Amino acid sequence: MTLRIGCIADDFTGGTDVAAAFRRAGLRTALVFGAPDDTTVLPPDCDAAVVALKSRSTPADEAVADSLAAQRWLWARGAAQVYFKYCSTFDSTPHGNIGPVTDALMDAAGATVALHCPASPPNGRTVYRGHLFVHDQLLSDSALRHHPLNPMTDSALVRLLSAQTPHQAALIDWGTVRQGVEAVRDAVVAHQQAGIRHIVADALTDDDLAVLGAAALELPVVAGAAGLAEGIGHAYPATAAATAAAIAEPQPSQGRAAVLAGSCSARTLEQIAQFYAAGLPSLHLDVLAAATGRDVTGEALAWYAEQDPGLPVLIYASASPEELAAVQARLGVAEAAAQVEELLGTLASHLVERGVRRLLVAGGETSGAVTTALGVRAVLVGAEADPGVPWTYATTENGDLALMLKSGNFGAPDLFTRALTTTAGETE
Ligand code: ADP
Repeated sequence: MTLRIGCIADDFTGGTDVAAAFRRAGLRTALVFGAPDDTTVLPPDCDAAVVALKSRSTPADEAVADSLAAQRWLWARGAAQVYFKYCSTFDSTPHGNIGPVTDALMDAAGATVALHCPASPPNGRTVYRGHLFVHDQLLSDSALRHHPLNPMTDSALVRLLSAQTPHQAALIDWGTVRQGVEAVRDAVVAHQQAGIRHIVADALTDDDLAVLGAAALELPVVAGAAGLAEGIGHAYPATAAATAAAIAEPQPSQGRAAVLAGSCSARTLEQIAQFYAAGLPSLHLDVLAAATGRDVTGEALAWYAEQDPGLPVLIYASASPEELAAVQARLGVAEAAAQVEELLGTLASHLVERGVRRLLVAGGETSGAVTTALGVRAVLVGAEADPGVPWTYATTENGDLALMLKSGNFGAPDLFTRALTTTAGETE
C-alpha cells in the first residue's frame, strides 16, 4: 500500500475534521488514534492517513518527538508529503507548538520552506493581510483571547509564528493568491531564495485554498487547518483505486444501533433531548451510584436487552451543568471523568459483543475512552452525517463496526435520530 499524503493532527477531534476534509476531496482516508507503531494496521488502499495525536498543549519537546515518530511512520507507508494539522484559530503559546513541530518536520524532510494557512472559511476563519479573523472579528478580539490553555491575544500570523521559531517568516498576500497557482508558486520560490522558511498565505474562500493546495503539492511539509488539507486533496488527481474503494466502502446496516454520550456540551444535551422527544429508548447512567459500587453497567445491559432491537438506544452519563457540578463536588473533577470514561468504555465493549454494529459516541474524551476500550486504533473515514462528523468504519474482534465519533458541540440537534434511523452510508 502506498499513501499519497500523510497528516499529523495535534488533537483528536482535529484529526476527525481533517480526515473528513481529505475524504470530501475524494481521497480514501484512514484515521489513526494516537501514536502508531508496527502493529497498527491501516485499512487497505488508502490515499491519505491522518495520525491524531494529543500534542497541542503538551511541552514542545514532547510534541516534536511524537510528531517526528508519526512522520517516520507515514513515510514508511509511502507518504511523500506530510501535512501538519493545527487549529483554525492557531491555538498555541509563544513557546510552541506550531513553530517547533513544523521546524522539526521540515528538518527531517530536508525542506527549506513550509506553507501555512489556518483559514477555514465554512467556519468563519479567514486570513487577510496575514491577520486571522474569526467571523467578523480579529482573532485577538474574539472569545479566543480568553481561552483557558492557549489565550490568543495577537492576530498577526507572521508575528505569532516568528515568536515560535528562530527562522524567518513572511506573507503571500491575497492579491497574489487571486492571481492563481503559478503566481503563488513564484512567490514561494522568491521567498525561499530570500531565506524565508515559513510562509503564511492569505485565504478568504475555499477557492483560495484550492489555489494554495495546488501550489503546495510538491512541498514536503505543509501546515494549517482542515481547509488547506482539502485544497491539497483536490489537487491530487483521483486514482481509480480511490474511486472504486469509495464505492466499496463498508455499510454495516445489519445489527443494532446505539449512542453512548459522555459529553456535557450544550449541543449534546440538545441532541439527547431530541432523541428522547422522538420517543426512542434512552437511559441516564447514575454516576454517583456507580462510584458507590452499584452495578450500573449490569443494570444498563439488562435494560438494553429489553429494548426493541429495531430501534436505536441511547445510554448517557451527560449531565446538566448543575448535576455535573454536584457529581464533581462529591468525586472530584478528575475522578468523576475517569469513572464516566471507564463506564462508557466498558459499556461500548459489551454492546458490541451484544450485536451493536452502528455506534455513535458523543464527546472528545469519551470517544478516546471508547476507541481504547474497543481496541480500535485505525478507521476508514466515510461520509459525513453533519459537517466534521463522518461515519467511520472499523474492524473489531466482533466484526465490522460503523463508528461515529462526535466532539461535544458538533452536529445538528437531530443528529442522533437522523444518523441512526437511516442506515450507515445513506447519509451522503
Ligand atoms: P466534549 O467533547 O463535550 O468536551 P468530552 O467527552 O471530551 O466531551 O468531555 C466530557 C467529560 O465529562 C468527560 O471526561 C466525561 O467523563 C465527563 N462527564 C460526563 N458525564 C459526567 C457526569 N455525569 N459526571 C461527571 N463527569 C462527567
